[in-house]
Amino acid sequence: MNKMTLKDFDYNGKKVLVRCDFNVPMKDGVITDDQRIVASIPTIKYLLDQNCAIILMSHLGRPKGVSNPKFSLEAVSKRLSELLNQEVEFLDDDQVVSDDVKAKVKELKPGQIALLQNTRFRAEETKCGEEFSKDLASLADFYVNDAFGTSHRAHASNVGVSGYLPSALGLLVQKEVDIMGKAIKDPERPFVAILGGAKVSDKIGVIENLLNLVDKIIIVGAMANTFLKAQGKNLGKSLVEDDKLDIAKDLLDKAKAKNIEILLPKDLVVAKEMENDAESKTVSVDEIESDYMALDIGNKTLDAIENALKDAKTVVWNGPAGVFEMDNFNKGTFGIAKFLANLDAITIIGGGDSAAAVEKAGLKDKITHVSTGGGASLELLEGKELPGIKAIKDK
Ligand code: AMP
Repeated sequence: MNKMTLKDFDYNGKKVLVRCDFNVPMKDGVITDDQRIVASIPTIKYLLDQNCAIILMSHLGRPKGVSNPKFSLEAVSKRLSELLNQEVEFLDDDQVVSDDVKAKVKELKPGQIALLQNTRFRAEETKCGEEFSKDLASLADFYVNDAFGTSHRAHASNVGVSGYLPSALGLLVQKEVDIMGKAIKDPERPFVAILGGAKVSDKIGVIENLLNLVDKIIIVGAMANTFLKAQGKNLGKSLVEDDKLDIAKDLLDKAKAKNIEILLPKDLVVAKEMENDAESKTVSVDEIESDYMALDIGNKTLDAIENALKDAKTVVWNGPAGVFEMDNFNKGTFGIAKFLANLDAITIIGGGDSAAAVEKAGLKDKITHVSTGGGASLELLEGKELPGIKAIKDK
């Protein structure tokens, strides 16, 4: 990929509009995980060194096109000020860009930073509206896309605005695309994918595409239940997508025809209810009683996974191995995280819940790359071109 990058423009004395991904988890107005804000710092610091004024923008949650204080970016501006140790002026305006905001941006001097209000307070944002895109572009001389987490969407603040300003990829997006791009195009082999999480339906396209790229696929989490049922096993009360059994069968057949090993659980931790204190036991996949449900992988499965991974040189992981939010069903997910942390390979975590698990286990620093975008990294693995990246011109 040869897109315009942050370092390709001279920003001296200019204004630069940067799309960040500040879509952070919040509880009662307090940010519960600031990783996405931290991830934006390298691009911001680079720009500060270039003697330009910086206007940041992002969405937060789903306010559905109307202003709503619950989704205000004010807490983000405060956290960012703390991290940068400098003021980030919060341009709180229900219209995101108004005459008042334009006037304030005009006054910004090189070295100063401002943050716009949540771009999704405007209904045109998710429709890639032309007027809103132009309004945003009118604030600056350059545009930088540093929001990997929204790159799979074509919105005004990432795709629309790039049509009206000289545009570049930020350092974060570039890193994400470089690492994931290499894994997809030219991986060091053996290349193994681990897919888990709740639904097969979310990842059918990913599996189809990975069958052309990887040497092995390990399937865990509730996703595996549908594949096991497709093989004729009784899954009791487990989460199964009965309308996807044919697709699961078809994917297993395709893998066989291509000689790609698909590793499914051999044993599972089961309980009668999805409750942390529910009595649980580990059983073989052939022995699940009808009033039990699978909530994690068992030790034999974890051993088999470790054995399948031990020679791997590239590993991509997306989706937990069980209901990892509950301490009694997190052993499989944390076991995989620990094994990957100590593996001598390029290890890539595709955002979302597996990223949260690695963070919770304190292992993030031992993973080659933890993506900031679950949906976007899944689309890359699916072989799709991301609109937010495509919109930036080639060099
Ligand atoms: P996803 O968003 O598709 O990555 O799915 C993540 C969710 O899958 C997490 O909230 C997990 O609790 C859930 N999950 C993983 N394994 C299971 C399982 N065996 N049964 C029910 N939910 C599961």
